[in-house]
Amino acid sequence: MKQIVVATKNAGKAVEFKDFFKTFGIEAVSLLDIEGPVDDIEETGHTFEENAAIKAEAIANLLGQTVIADDSGLEIDALDGRPGIYSARYAGESSTDAENVEKALKELDQIPAEERGARFVCVLAVATPGKETVYRTGFCEGHINREPKGENGFGYDPIFVPSGYAKTMAELSKAEKNAISHRKHAFDQLKDWIMSVQAEL
Ligand code: IMP
Repeated sequence: MKQIVVATKNAGKAVEFKDFFKTFGIEAVSLLDIEGPVDDIEETGHTFEENAAIKAEAIANLLGQTVIADDSGLEIDALDGRPGIYSARYAGESSTDAENVEKALKELDQIPAEERGARFVCVLAVATPGKETVYRTGFCEGHINREPKGENGFGYDPIFVPSGYAKTMAELSKAEKNAISHRKHAFDQLKDWIMSVQAEL
């Protein structure tokens, strides 16, 4: 089977990548499957694109093969796009999901319903040694609820209500979320690239 390496040590993400690539007859191998340690790569970029590329290119150069990486986060309109690339550490370097959610809700306290627009963003970067890195982006539009609701998912899911829904992302099933998520939309955008390189992988 053809292979692509996914630059993640996150088991949940690894499964999503595996499921997606399997439909094209490609085996997605994550850093959890690879023998020998691969050090964590610091996300020093200023955009989702830069951070995804930093991870994909570093590991592609290390392994000498095609590597895909993603970077994602939440952009809140009333906060000028924050937390953005700082989503994972919004309330501090080792902050929990609950602390990040609490900080965002506090900052939105005075913001009325019609100004609580937000979107999840996912950027995929595909790096092949000696070739230009390929980027694809997916969005999931919605708004920020007044309080956290639901037990599913992770991160900001309990306060994010996707457009067209009356529930938070954390109240949706895994299958429902996966059908509308920013990652799913970024994967959809990548299909043309897969078709064009399938023979070379
Ligand atoms: P990363 O792409 O794994 O670095 O994720 C960055 C951060 O963005 C996560 O820690 C979450 O806080 C947030 N995030 C990304 N995707 C989602 C999602 O699907 N639901 C909720 N939060 C998300």
